Amino acid sequence: MTTLGRERARGDVLEDARPFDLLITGGHVLDGAGQPGQVTDIGIRDGRIVALGVLKGKPARECIEAEGLIVAPGFIDIHAHSDVSLLLNPVDEPRLWQGVTTVVFSNCGLGFAPATERSLAMLKRTYAGVFGYWESPWRGGSVRQYLDLFADRTAVNVAYLIPHAAVRAMVLGLEGRAATEREVAQMVDLVHQAMEDGAFGLSVGLAYAPMRWATRDELCALLRAVREGGGFFAIHLRDYFGGLFDALAEALALAEEADVPVQISHLQAAGRKNWGKAEALLEMLDRARERGVDVTVDSYPYMAGSTFLHALLPEWAQAGDAEAILARLRDPTMRRRVVAELNVASRDWGSVIISGLSSVKNQSLVGRSLQEIAEAGTVSIGEALVRLLLEEDLHVSIVSHHGDEADVCRILQYPFHMIGSDG
Ligand SMILES: [Zn+2]
Repeated sequence: MTTLGRERARGDVLEDARPFDLLITGGHVLDGAGQPGQVTDIGIRDGRIVALGVLKGKPARECIEAEGLIVAPGFIDIHAHSDVSLLLNPVDEPRLWQGVTTVVFSNCGLGFAPATERSLAMLKRTYAGVFGYWESPWRGGSVRQYLDLFADRTAVNVAYLIPHAAVRAMVLGLEGRAATEREVAQMVDLVHQAMEDGAFGLSVGLAYAPMRWATRDELCALLRAVREGGGFFAIHLRDYFGGLFDALAEALALAEEADVPVQISHLQAAGRKNWGKAEALLEMLDRARERGVDVTVDSYPYMAGSTFLHALLPEWAQAGDAEAILARLRDPTMRRRVVAELNVASRDWGSVIISGLSSVKNQSLVGRSLQEIAEAGTVSIGEALVRLLLEEDLHVSIVSHHGDEADVCRILQYPFHMIGSDG
């Protein structure tokens, strides 16, 4: 043993003599690395695990007797929409009570940084059906400025994904069109900056306006910027219903072309016609992994999903900000066209439940399906939906019961899967 070694050893002995800050005894420890659990004690000092083994009786400032309990690292909620809720309630008790200590957001391309004052106002108004109407210290700015609002305030750790819609809104508003080459270059600069500011990657939601109008060139350019920043992209697929397999192929092709890791968001086989197809989806992922695509998935353990009601409008009717959408619904000719298209859409409207809206007079509609609401008003589905959006100024959220339990369970078991709350 060298002199240096002896000194170190003496130091260790001295350090060992200090009481632990926290001693957890008798717990069944599952460390998350995949091996079987074992009963062991854990000594913690200065925020780090410094000892494992039989430690009962050693001096400690605080002891937790965990016999009969499982001790594990904090869980990661890989798919969340906590952009606003965590600012308003930094303690986030619902997650802590479930053992979640890290939250990954923004997902599905929806979020609020980076932003100018103008783009922020537009995003808040248009996505109120998901995030509610809110006031917070966030007034727009860079991703770094946004993340500073969470630093040392939130009880959970946060990992941020740059929302594609926020980047697009800064450059071309919420317009329903392809971006020009110059606009794509501006978006790429924003993504580079946001990655430098601490983002983990980019989230896109190709089912949502305005992201659905992004060309493959735009997406690949942004994804290459993400790769250069060492990140990954999470994607809400263009379609989880009839076009599910094409949408998954599209996501995998993007990852392959831009050579960037991809996380498929809340993978599910939605709609009765898709039930039983989870296995085929997972086989498609396996084949992509064999080709070298770094693809993982997340899903929530529910048969229902949630979003804002105007996401169900025909694609052309979703372009622009909230004012543009409402103006379209007020215009008699366009309104007739929207109603007609909704009435022939292949959707099980009995499974679409109103889960939130802002007016007092319509509160009795919360918990009822669009089918029921239309029947009670003796109007068509399209008419009921448009009326509700106009009366509520677009501020309507829905829960859609479209999943099958066997599929949900199968996807949860996939080895390259992580669970997320979507909350
Ligand atoms: Zn989503």
